[in-house]
Formats: sequence, C-alpha cells, structure tokens
Amino acid sequence: TMNYRHAFHAGNFADVLKHAVIAQCLDHLKAKPKPFRVIDSHAGVGAYDLTGDAARRSPEWQAGIARVLETKRPAAVEAALAPYLKVVKAMNTGADLTAYPGSPELAARLMRQDDRAHLCELHEADAKTLDARYARDARIKVERRDGYKALGALVPPREKRGLVLVDPPFEHRDEMAHMAEAIKPALTKWPTGTFVFWRPLKDLWASERFDVGLAEWLFEEGLAAPEKILRADLWVRDLESEGKLAGAGVVVINPPFTLEGHLLALLPWLAEALAQGDGAGWRLDGAVTDDSLSVEEF
Ligand code: SAM
Repeated sequence: TMNYRHAFHAGNFADVLKHAVIAQCLDHLKAKPKPFRVIDSHAGVGAYDLTGDAARRSPEWQAGIARVLETKRPAAVEAALAPYLKVVKAMNTGADLTAYPGSPELAARLMRQDDRAHLCELHEADAKTLDARYARDARIKVERRDGYKALGALVPPREKRGLVLVDPPFEHRDEMAHMAEAIKPALTKWPTGTFVFWRPLKDLWASERFDVGLAEWLFEEGLAAPEKILRADLWVRDLESEGKLAGAGVVVINPPFTLEGHLLALLPWLAEALAQGDGAGWRLDGAVTDDSLSVEEF
C-alpha cells in the first residue's frame, strides 16, 4: 500500500533542512563547468501547491518555510539558504507564499543546460503528475519505478559527477533497514558520488543503527574516509514527545567541503526559528564512530 502523500508535509521543518542541503550540493556542483546528474529515487510530484486541499488540511509549511521567510536572517544563514530560497522566491513572485519546490523542482531550477536529472516515483498517479510536469524538459527523465531497485542500475552516471537523493516515505516499520540494504549496491558502484539520505528521528534506535551501520560498512569496504560523512539533524520539539514528527535529518556521503560550515550557521538558527515547543535542538557531526567529533546543542 502506498498511502503517503508528501503534499501534507511539503515545506515543513524537515523539508527545509533537506532541501537547503540539496540546494547547497547542487550549487556546489555548478562551481565546475562539467555537467552533473541528479538521481532522485523517491521523487514525489515535483512541486506543491500550498493553497491546495492537502496543504490547507495540513498546513505544516506555516511552521516551516513560512517562518524561515518571516524571520530575520543573519548573513551566514542567508548564505547557507541562498540557493534554496532563490528557487522558493522564483516560484512565488506574488505577495503570498503559494508554491513550494520538491526535490525535482529544486534540481530543475538549479540545473544548467547540460545537466541531467533522473527521477523515480512508484506511485502511479504521482508518477504521471511528475512526468507531465517535466514532459517538455529534455534534461529530465521520469520513470515509474521502484527507486530502491533502480539505484544500483542508475549509477555511476555518464557524467561521473552528481547527486543521489534517497528520500523514502517511511510508512513501513522496517523502511530504515530496507534503505540501509538498498543503497549498498549504488555506494559500491559509485563511491565518489554525493549521496543524501533522509531519515526521520522517530525511532531513535533505528536511525542510530542506520547511521552507525552505514558509516561502519563504508569504512570496512574502504569506500569512504570518515571525513566524507556528514550527519545533520534538526528537531523542533523534544524528540520523546508524542504526536507528529519532531525531528529529522540527513546523512550525506561525499558532501561538498563547504556544506559543514553552512550547516554550522544554519542549524542553530533553524532550531530557534522553527521551534514548536520545549526541547528543540540540532546536531551536526561527521562519521558516527566512537572517536568522531560532534557538535550538539540541546
Ligand atoms: N523527494 C521528494 C521531495 O523532496 O520533494 C519527496 C518524496 S516523498 C518523501 C516519498 C515519495 O516516494 C512518495 O511520493 C512516494 O509515493 C514515493 N515512493 C514510495 N515508495 C517508493 C519506491 N519504492 N520507489 C519510488 N518511489 C516510492
């Protein structure tokens, strides 16, 4: 069963962090003229109407992107958010915030003429919507396909540089473990690609297991040095609190060297600006091993 609809969550705090990171990665790829490829295994519908039924029934964006735009942003935060907010602003030229970019739209709007994107979406109606959205964009290929199964076959891309985003819905209990296994063929075949893995901070045991398991496996296989792994998490309430998702973040393999500095400015600011109650916080660290350096603020 596929019940997850991202339209109910588009633009929330978790999207803000994930999409700011993706936009920074894309921006960094553009520093060199050589083309790159974006591979998005769980693409969604591409962009979201914040005036639509789903967003009206579940206006999570009001405590996410809307607050980011309303809050005064110091220069370092502005720099960290620049490529992301550039897209959000380009989609919202009127007085109100009405549209929000999904990961495909961020790619579409930040890519250049010769860059390419390969998008997988398994949900039938969503895949159709996504396909229609980019039908006239020759840079973008859409496939209705299981993104997990596709990953290993889609890397390394011809361009030999680029970004892989794995952003599953986590509607099944064992999705974290499933993701951990499904990404291994792709990491083995393309250890130099930049990979962004999104995961919720809900079952903290499961997310820790994912992070540590991934780092240890990468070292054991000789695929990545400790400094090639970065983990960034944000929580807007006490993680132990009941109810809606309180925290989430990304694990990035081969992050651009500029990302850590941007996140160090961005995360404390986001934790304050997007707080929904007591116990908001953030964490930024490298390889998740015993001797790793860690910055945390609770
Ligand atoms: N990456 C998108 C973004 O940032 O805008 C949001 C993606 S949403 C969190 C997850 C999507 O994965 C949903 O649209 C869902 O239909 C789709 N999906 C679920 N299982 C899938 C699978 N095995 N392969 C590809 N897509 C899948």
